[in-house]
Amino acid sequence: MDIKVENLTKLYGVQKAVDDISFVVKTGEILGFLGPNGAGKTTTMKAIATFLLPDNGSIYIGDNDAIKSPQEVKKHIGYLPENNPLYTEMPVIDYLRFVAALNNVPKQNIDERVLEMVKLCGLRGEKHKKIEELSKGYQQRVGLAQALIHDPDILILDEPTTGLDPNQIIEIRELIKKIGRSKTVILSSHILAEVEATCDRIMIINKGKIVANGTTAELRNRSQGNEILIVEIEGISDRDTVYTAVAELPNVEMVDFLENESAKLEIQSSDAKQTKKLIFDLCVKNNWYLSQLTPVETKLEDIFRELTLN
Ligand code: ATP
Repeated sequence: MDIKVENLTKLYGVQKAVDDISFVVKTGEILGFLGPNGAGKTTTMKAIATFLLPDNGSIYIGDNDAIKSPQEVKKHIGYLPENNPLYTEMPVIDYLRFVAALNNVPKQNIDERVLEMVKLCGLRGEKHKKIEELSKGYQQRVGLAQALIHDPDILILDEPTTGLDPNQIIEIRELIKKIGRSKTVILSSHILAEVEATCDRIMIINKGKIVANGTTAELRNRSQGNEILIVEIEGISDRDTVYTAVAELPNVEMVDFLENESAKLEIQSSDAKQTKKLIFDLCVKNNWYLSQLTPVETKLEDIFRELTLN
């Protein structure tokens, strides 16, 4: 089931927490939602999950209008809110039975459904414990299990791995990927590597506005017109000749020596594919020994900073 958000705006007093944003998430897609603190991620996710009424815009979950028919839309959405609120004094299994009933899972199916979730979320060994007795990672699994209990088509996960240790992060990430194969997922996170590893697409929001939306590769291309190459040429006697020859190549925007004694260069090019070929030809022509020609990938951290630091 697709999610379609159009011109969504939410005001708190005069502050626009979300400012006229539009986007689509397709069935089977995992969208990573990034942004600095206060950017508007939770507000957007709450609006999609029908826990908050926007001031303007529309949200469609499949063909259902989330603003006009929130009860219908809720049936299709599993929501894991930030900070994972749970009834911690309840045993896991009782809590999941309770949430299943709340979500209108037919009575005769509740036990079977709860056991399926216990299995899927790796809670078998913990199912009779009170939630307050579980580690944070296992509590997070209970949060995921409650979000999935009614087999929703859409999962909205607000910072699902906050506070987990690296092993738990990997386990929850794998679980989300597994679930994401058949559902539409939006997850927010401050861990950029996690979003990169888990999500098909990344959307960055800043001050209530979408500032980027695409695959990691697309964001890299869009954020930086120039690509960077590291080139090392050995066995040359005159570094300046190499510098000048490289700097004169078409599309080369900047050249810099990286080390004092070798001809190791950092090159910024507006057409790295062509520059790589021309550097190779240049070395062949001059009998220079090309020992390195490596493109440097822009890190997602750099793209995030570039787009959100203002
Ligand atoms: P974080 O990464 O810190 O969780 P976020 O991107 O999820 O941030 P939101 O929680 O959506 O950001 O908040 C967006 C803006 O709206 C913030 O400036 C926040 O202070 C404001 N805001 C959110 N909820 C309320 C509220 N109930 N009342 C007033 N202002 C609010």
